[in-house]
Amino acid sequence: MNLARFPRISLAHLPTPLERLDNLTRVLNGPEIWIKRDDCTGLSTGGNKTRKLEFLMAAAQAEGADTVITQGATQSNHARQTAAAASKLGMSCHLLLEDRTKKTDFDYTENGNVLLDVLHGATIERCASHPDMNGEMMKVAEKLKAAGKKVYAIPGGGSNPVGALGYVNAALELVVQVNTMGLKVDHIVHATGSAGTQAGLVAGLVGLNSDIKLLGIGVRAPKEKQEENVFKLACSTADLLGMSDAVKREHVMANCDYVGEGYGFPPPATIDAIRMLAKLEAILLDPVYSGKGMSGLIDLVRKGHFRKGETVVFIHTGGQIGLTAYAKDFLSNG
Ligand SMILES: *Cc1c(COP(=O)(O)O)cnc(C)c1O
Repeated sequence: MNLARFPRISLAHLPTPLERLDNLTRVLNGPEIWIKRDDCTGLSTGGNKTRKLEFLMAAAQAEGADTVITQGATQSNHARQTAAAASKLGMSCHLLLEDRTKKTDFDYTENGNVLLDVLHGATIERCASHPDMNGEMMKVAEKLKAAGKKVYAIPGGGSNPVGALGYVNAALELVVQVNTMGLKVDHIVHATGSAGTQAGLVAGLVGLNSDIKLLGIGVRAPKEKQEENVFKLACSTADLLGMSDAVKREHVMANCDYVGEGYGFPPPATIDAIRMLAKLEAILLDPVYSGKGMSGLIDLVRKGHFRKGETVVFIHTGGQIGLTAYAKDFLSNG
């Protein structure tokens, strides 16, 4: 595994901190819980997509692109981080934002990530929900090309093998970090959506022959589909790294019991987890991803899935700016 042979632009503050959650650990009275602060990657309020964009934006520049296009839900953290990366690198950014939730309130449609997209100078095009959003995006990309732009298209969530290299790198970073600290980690838990984060971690941990168990907490798709998506991408990421056939189906585990009503709708347990982390640890989670992930972790600790004496690392994948798009979910619950 030789990551250094892939073009990469430094965009993130790395390594991100790894911190012990003393208060949460005490209150839950189960395993030791640590947090990997990928909400602190630095670019425009941070988040996990910045690691992927280090490789994706480098690939775009290597192809001589002057414009990047990507797609996501209205409050996409990925779209916002792509817009930020493009502005820093002097490129144009076009965003296709899918109305995945049909929410019409001002905070959701204009505040949070959308406000930052605008500040970073991205052009925004909105569309109705569609089962093949990457296909829809490619149609828009063709129009931009016809207008003379040199376009590099980044799939939703930055989830292709090049983007997943960002989380192969995160696996290397985390394993070195815990070795240096003398910490024995049993489990890693994080929110999984478009699959690139988990796929990169799977490929990285397999490449390192690590025995740390990885669990993705789903935010949208049912378990079978989510695991299949992650597995496929982990295999193609391993191919890219020259370690074909290393990833096995049993390396991929997702729990999709915490999705609730659907993508972008935080169930009461997610709201509770966000309040709990804010109150106990002064850590801000988000309503769409990291809050659902943490609600899963808390429930699994309470059910005895993770035990006393074990150590669990929760990867905080960011998204906290999305809280401002969901203010009323907290005020009405409060
Ligand atoms: C995109 C995102 C995720 C999920 O990562 P994937 O690579 O899409 O699975 C998790 N948390 C936050 C905050 C995100 O923006």
